[in-house]
Amino acid sequence: MKNNCVFCAIEAGEIPCFKIYEDDRVLAFLDINPFSKGHTLVIPKTHHKDMLEVPAELGTAVFAAIQKVAAAVLEATGAQGFNVMQNNRLAAGQTVFHIHWHIIPRFEGDGLDMWAQGKYADGAAMQQMAAKVASCL
Ligand code: AMP
Repeated sequence: MKNNCVFCAIEAGEIPCFKIYEDDRVLAFLDINPFSKGHTLVIPKTHHKDMLEVPAELGTAVFAAIQKVAAAVLEATGAQGFNVMQNNRLAAGQTVFHIHWHIIPRFEGDGLDMWAQGKYADGAAMQQMAAKVASCL
């Protein structure tokens, strides 16, 4: 299997998929274990592990495909909204290490709420975090 990667194998036609959309740089197909019906994955055809490795210039093609496919998913499923999710690395729940974006159709009251939000102790703690991250740029 190319790159020992299931999504490269799908891109190469070695593993079947339920294809939704394809252009010269991007492929979209149904997720095999959907969070909701119509859950679709958008991948670049080239192999990159995650957001820190994908060339930024690919983003334009991916963004355009997400817009096109998400509109189609909304129309086909009758969903009232959608999430675009993208996991990076094991700790964040990434299981396939070929970057991909999930388009997840959402329905009022579907209960797919993901994370509880927290709070910083105070404004100083928040300022410290912002400064620390900015210093790493
Ligand atoms: P992630 O956890 O963000 O890495 O997501 C990987 C996704 O790929 C999961 O939602 C899986 O259900 C999906 N997946 C894995 N193998 C296949 C496959 N052969 N065809 C379609 N979706 C797949």
